[in-house]
Amino acid sequence: MIQPLRGSFEEALTRNHLWLERETPRVLQLNVGKMCNLSCVHCHVGAGPTRTEIMTRDTMTSIQEWVVENPVPVVDLTGGAPEMFPHFQELVSWLTHRGIHVMDRCNLTILLQPGFEEMAEFLKEHHVEIVASMPCYSPENVNAQRGNGVFDESIEALQLLNRLGYGIEDDLPLQLVYNPNGDFLPPSQQMLEQAYKRELKAHFGIQFHHLYALTNLPVSRFATYLKRREKYEEYLQLLKDNFNPGSVAGLMCRDTISVDWEGRVFDCDFNQQMDMHLGDGGTPLALWEVDLRRWKQTPIRTAPHCFGCTAGQGSSCGGALEE
Ligand code: SF4
Ligand code: SF4
Repeated sequence: MIQPLRGSFEEALTRNHLWLERETPRVLQLNVGKMCNLSCVHCHVGAGPTRTEIMTRDTMTSIQEWVVENPVPVVDLTGGAPEMFPHFQELVSWLTHRGIHVMDRCNLTILLQPGFEEMAEFLKEHHVEIVASMPCYSPENVNAQRGNGVFDESIEALQLLNRLGYGIEDDLPLQLVYNPNGDFLPPSQQMLEQAYKRELKAHFGIQFHHLYALTNLPVSRFATYLKRREKYEEYLQLLKDNFNPGSVAGLMCRDTISVDWEGRVFDCDFNQQMDMHLGDGGTPLALWEVDLRRWKQTPIRTAPHCFGCTAGQGSSCGGALEE
């Protein structure tokens, strides 16, 4: 049941007799850097073509050494545009060779850029799951949020992926990601998925597996967008007023280790952007210092933006938490 709330995220949990407990990590999410060929309005990372932050080879090697000692079933690669990480293909090959399921959070348009023409074929060869941003099935909304021409390029990239079998074959999963084009909550994920499937198939012949409906969290570029319009407090209140206790069990911070381009450890990609790193006494914890035997005892750091994950149907990297 949804109850109107005031106060901090911790208070919201306490009032509902809930607490955030870690589980055994299932997902290692690597944010390899802030380089991106786009610069979207809602971007919670503040990524773009002029950003230079990118993971070094030494950091990647240290992460690989940790993974050898601490095998995880899933590695989720994000950015920026993760494909722009110079060692992307080497890392993906190394992970999939070990039987680790790899997810690529892809902005689609990167697959058409000069120098990346072979990327879609590479992803197919390694059975990488593609989780692709597609904030709408109409050009106006996509271009407003992501830039002129992005809709047409996204459609072209999706058609390319379909030709390779993505979104059609079970072992070539293609998921699309919706996020609202402004300061409102996503509609029902199930209804939206039906509408996306109908419209994309009818107009462009495109198929995909699932749609993930994500809430915009008020951090980084989206927080700036809200503040410029003097909407930040109002949006936060909207998130609080729609606090859904049923979403807490599925929060991604419970079973994910999030790592930034420097190898530092966080509870999630949003806490990364808020520089809410883990570690004692203000010293950031690096992944290669993480001892999984003590991981469950490490408290999850929360802040007001956490209300974005628990509003309405809930929101995580895998979409809605409770419909
Ligand atoms: S939202 Fe994704 S595609 Fe857009 S700028 Fe950010 S990282 Fe790049
Ligand atoms: S913002 Fe991060 S730490 Fe907060 S609830 Fe969401 S996933 Fe968990």
